[in-house]
Amino acid sequence: MRVTLLALLLSATAGPALAQSNAELMANDHYTRSHDYDLVHQRIAVSDFNWDSLSFEGNVTTTLVALRPGLDSVVLDEGALLTNTSVADRGGRPLRATRSGDTLVVFPASPVGFGDTLTFTVAYHGKVRDGDGLTFITPDGLPHRPRQIWSQGEDHNNHDWFPTFDFPSDKMTWEMVATVPTEDFAVSNGRLVSDVVRGGQRTVTWNQEAPSATYLVSLVVAPLARIHDTWQGVPVDYYVYHADSAAAWRLFHVTPDMIATYSRLTGIRYPWDKYAQTTVADFFGGMENVSATTLVDWLPDAAAYQDRPWYQWLLIPHELAHQWFGDYVTTENWANMWLNEGFAEFMPGQYWGQKLGAHAAEDYYVDEYRQYLQIDRRRPMPLASLGSNNIYPKGALVLEMLQQLVGPQRFWAAIHTYLTRHAFGVATTDDLRQAFLAATGENLDRFWSEWVYQAGYPRLDVTAAYDSAAHALTLHIAQTQLDSLKPDSSGLKFTVPPVFHMPLVVRVGTAAGDVTQRVELDAREQTVTIPGVAGPPTMVIFDDGNAVLKSLTFQEPTAWLATQLGRDPNLWNRQWVIEQLAERKDDPAAGAALAEAATHADYFLTRQEAVDALGDFPAAVAMPALAVAAHDTSAAVRSGALDALGRIGGEQAVALANDAFAHDASYQVRAAAVMALGHADSAHIGRIIDAALVAPSYRDAIQTAALRLIAFSNDTARLGTVDSLVGTTQNAAFVLAAFVARGNTRAEAMLTGHLDDPSPAARRWALQAFRFGMPAPRALAQLRAAVDHLTRADAKAAVNQAIKQLSTGRGGM
Ligand SMILES: [Zn+2]
Repeated sequence: MRVTLLALLLSATAGPALAQSNAELMANDHYTRSHDYDLVHQRIAVSDFNWDSLSFEGNVTTTLVALRPGLDSVVLDEGALLTNTSVADRGGRPLRATRSGDTLVVFPASPVGFGDTLTFTVAYHGKVRDGDGLTFITPDGLPHRPRQIWSQGEDHNNHDWFPTFDFPSDKMTWEMVATVPTEDFAVSNGRLVSDVVRGGQRTVTWNQEAPSATYLVSLVVAPLARIHDTWQGVPVDYYVYHADSAAAWRLFHVTPDMIATYSRLTGIRYPWDKYAQTTVADFFGGMENVSATTLVDWLPDAAAYQDRPWYQWLLIPHELAHQWFGDYVTTENWANMWLNEGFAEFMPGQYWGQKLGAHAAEDYYVDEYRQYLQIDRRRPMPLASLGSNNIYPKGALVLEMLQQLVGPQRFWAAIHTYLTRHAFGVATTDDLRQAFLAATGENLDRFWSEWVYQAGYPRLDVTAAYDSAAHALTLHIAQTQLDSLKPDSSGLKFTVPPVFHMPLVVRVGTAAGDVTQRVELDAREQTVTIPGVAGPPTMVIFDDGNAVLKSLTFQEPTAWLATQLGRDPNLWNRQWVIEQLAERKDDPAAGAALAEAATHADYFLTRQEAVDALGDFPAAVAMPALAVAAHDTSAAVRSGALDALGRIGGEQAVALANDAFAHDASYQVRAAAVMALGHADSAHIGRIIDAALVAPSYRDAIQTAALRLIAFSNDTARLGTVDSLVGTTQNAAFVLAAFVARGNTRAEAMLTGHLDDPSPAARRWALQAFRFGMPAPRALAQLRAAVDHLTRADAKAAVNQAIKQLSTGRGGM
C-alpha cells in the first residue's frame, strides 16, 4: 500500500509487543502465526448492501485441508459484528460453531484426517464499523463523490467482512460473487467470469485462479466507467467515475509500459489474469489488491501534468510493483513487510530510470532519501522489524544500494531467483539473502546485518589534506553514528552498527586529469592515502556515484565544491554540494556557483535546488539568476524561483510573482506565486488571497496556498471566509485548527460547531482537523469539552471514538 507523504509522516509507530534479543529479531520467524489447516479456496458471495445501516448479506464457502490428524475444530477469523445465520457442511447439514470476539470455531461432523479436505459454508448478516474492512461512501452533498463501497484488507481487516484466515502466510484461490444495484459495477480480483443483470440487480462474478494472500481479497462497488487497455493480451482496465472517463487514459495509459518494464527487469511475466485499477473516494493512497489495485480518486487534469503528479510518478508504479512484490511473493509475516513495501517503493525509480534515463532514477531516490531522513529522525528502526516505520524509503534506498554493490545484472538475476523460488508463496528476509547467495555466490550476511536487521545509517565525517611533495591526498574518515537508541516499553532495543562496511570510490580532480581510488569503509576511524595526485586537487568527490546511503560532513574549499557542481553527474552528490554552498552566503564564489547551476544545470532538480539555496543569498547575487529561473522550462524550477523570490522580496520579485500568478500554466507555480506575494507584497495580500481562494486547480493547490497564507499571517479578519469553506474543502478545517492551536477562541467555536454540522463532510473534516491539525493533548481537551454539546447522535459517536483513539495513543493512521 502507499499512503500520501503527509500521512506517512503522521503515522504512529507501533512498537513490537515482545522483548527480543537481536538474534531473535534477525530471524523474525516467531511473528508467523500457526494454524492447523491449509486454506485452499473460498467462494465469497455478498449482496444486499445497505448504505444507511452499513450492512449486507454474506455467504462464504471455505475449502481447506487438514494439517494434523483428527482435525476436530477449525479456527477462522470473523469480525464480531458479523452475525452467522447458518454454518453447514457440503451436504447442507448444520455444523456446530462457536463465536468469541473476532474468532469463529467450526466443528466438523467428524474429525478430518491429515491431508483430507473439508468444505463448509457460513451464511451471515454482515455489518461493519465504517472503515473496518469495508468503507461505505455516501455523496454527502459533495460533487465528484458517487455512492460507493470499497474494501481494505491490509493488514488485518478482511475478516471484518468475511470469515477467513486473516494472516499473510497461507494463500488461497477465491471466487467473488457480488450482487449490487444495476447502476453499479463490482470490481474484484482475477478473471471476470460473468456480469448478469436480473430482477433489478446486477451480479458480477470474479475468479482469482492463482493463489494469493487473503488480505488482498478486494471489492469495490460503485457506478464506474471501464476504460479498456491491454498488455500482450492481458486486460488492463481503468475503472473510474463516469465523470472521470476523459481523464483516465492520460493518467493510466502508462500502465502497459510499466508492466512490460517490470516483466523484463524481473524476468517474470506479469503473473495475473488481468490488471484493474479502480478509483474510490476518501482513500489514503493506493492498495495493491492482487490484479485489482484500489486508488484514490484524484485524477490529474491536463494542466496538472506540468507538475509531475505524484499519482503517476509514484503511486501507479508503486502499486503495480506489488503485483510481483507482495502479491506474487508475499511477506510471511508483518515483521518482514519491507519485502513488500521496500520493493514497491524501489521499483518506480527503476521504471523511470529505464524510461527517462539515469537522472530520473537518481531524482526519485533523492526524494526517498529526504523522506528517509525525516522518518529516521523520529525513530531509527531496522527494515526487518515488526511495525517498522521506515520500510518505504529506506527499503527503496537499501535495494538501490544493493544493486550498485553487486551490479544490475547480478541484482536482477537474484531477484529473479527470489521471485521464482517463492512464486505464489511467502518469503522472509533471509529468503532474499539466500536468493542473492544462489544467484551471485555472495553471502551478504554482513550487508543484511548492518542494513536490514539493524537501524540507522553511517554518518561520515571526512577531512582531506594534500601533500604536494608526496603527490598524495590523505583522507581521514570517521563514522560518527551512535548506538544510543533507547529500549521501548517492552524492553526491545534496536542497535545501530558502530561500523558500516561498504566500498566506495573517491574521485580527485586535478589539472592533469582525475585520479580515482576505491575505499573500503571498514573502521570507526580510518585514514586513506591516495597516491598519484600530481597537482593540487580541483575537487574531491568522496563517494563517486553515491554508492553508500549516508550523511556526509566534509569541509571543502568553495572552489572544489563549485568544480564538482559543474562536473559531477550524480544528483545526490549535487544536492549535497548545493547544501554546502548554501551555507556560504557571504562567499561570492558560492553564490556564483549556485547561480550557474540555477541557470545552466542539465537536470531540473539541480536547477531547482540551486534556486532554492539562492533565496537566502544577497539580492545582488541571487536576483539575476532567479529572474532567469522564473522563466525556466521546468515548472518545478519556476516554482522554486518564486519561493526564493518571495524570501528576497523587492519590486522585481513582486512583478515576477504577479506575472506568474496571472499567466503561468502550472498550478504549482501559481500557488508558489501566491505564497511569494504573501511574503513580498503584504500590502496587497488581501487582493491576492481573494483571487487565489476562487482559482480552480488540481487538488486545490492554489486555494490551499491562500489558506496557508491566512494561517501563516494570522489573518483573523478572514476567519469568516475560512469558516464558510469548511463544507467544501478539508484544508479550511485545518486552517481553523491552526488558529485553535494558537488559542483563538473564535476559531475554536467555529471548528467545534462543525463537529455538529449538517454536512457529513464538514463534520468529518472538522474532526480530522482536531485529530491531525493540533497536538493530541490539545485535541483531546477540546473534543472532551465539546462532546456533551453535540446534538447529532452520529456526531457524538464519531467524537467519542476519536477521544478513545487519541487517549490510547492511536491518534495516527
Ligand atoms: Zn505499498
